[in-house]
Amino acid sequence: MPFVHSLGLGKALTGRLENAGIKTAKELASWNQRELRSISGVGSKSIDKIETALERVGLALAEDPLSPYECVREGRAAWDVRLCSFHLCESCVAEWTVGAFRGEPPVFDASVLSGSCQNCTQVATDLHLAQWLLCGNCERVARSIGRSIAAEQYVAARFEEAFRRSLVELERLDQPVLRAHDAQILERKTPSIDFMILEEGVPIAGIELKTGRSHLGGWAPVGAKMGTFQLDHGDCDDISEVADAEGIVVYLFHAQVIDRAEPPTTRFEAVGLWWIDPFSFSDSYQTSRTRPRETKTAAYYSTDQFRSFEEFEEHWRTGKMASVRQRFGQHGQPPLYR
Ligand SMILES: [Zn+2]
Ligand SMILES: [Zn+2]
Repeated sequence: MPFVHSLGLGKALTGRLENAGIKTAKELASWNQRELRSISGVGSKSIDKIETALERVGLALAEDPLSPYECVREGRAAWDVRLCSFHLCESCVAEWTVGAFRGEPPVFDASVLSGSCQNCTQVATDLHLAQWLLCGNCERVARSIGRSIAAEQYVAARFEEAFRRSLVELERLDQPVLRAHDAQILERKTPSIDFMILEEGVPIAGIELKTGRSHLGGWAPVGAKMGTFQLDHGDCDDISEVADAEGIVVYLFHAQVIDRAEPPTTRFEAVGLWWIDPFSFSDSYQTSRTRPRETKTAAYYSTDQFRSFEEFEEHWRTGKMASVRQRFGQHGQPPLYR
């Protein structure tokens, strides 16, 4: 069995290892990276050297049982990766495995429950308790999809109800889906909005839908009132880009979606809907700030010009939407932040 001094690690590194009581290559291979790093003078460069030298004699460093886990969506190890549990129907387990998690099935999967699927929001009798290792960001994205779907279904239902006696209809453009991390980054480069409003088949306005837990006023509101409306500069840019490229007025909608317990699952329930035209939204701009611990900059808006969805059909019927479109035609998309 080769000795450490015959591995060709150089005098200094060999000395450090021998001082730590490591005499043979086999002893060296019983250490893991984290343990080696605590020997003074041993860093990433030394560890690379050691790994190469050990490989030549058919050995490798020990696995660290306390190493950080890899996020299944990104294939990247991080300390905030943890075991996340989801209640999903059969087809959503398959969809996430193939579409979002690089083909990795859940680390735990049991079909035991019936209730509301966290992703597609459908009630299923074969609901799975499925677990994957995810970082904080990917977990947040995964958990937001069901809420967005509930919001989109609510918008579609409210629209159909309000415009049932007209030739106005809603076309869904961007379906919320949990995508692979790389795909999401690519997609960011081609902005899209959530809905198009059509009148007799002709697009008259677009809708970008945001979802949150708080309300924006009105009769018997549920929960807490939103103090200021926040929108990332990136989202503002996407909206403006679509408005410019398509030559279309984009209204911003806010759907309030809350959690309701449906043991053993949680159901998303949409309870309120508000809207604002781009000019009023531009006028509501207050300031921009980078949120603590985040790199994205968010724009902040006052909420008093948001109006309840009950007024949206009237906004169209009385020609106010036509005035907004006319103003847009003359002046183009207003700046959403300054
Ligand atoms: Zn599902
Ligand atoms: Zn991740």
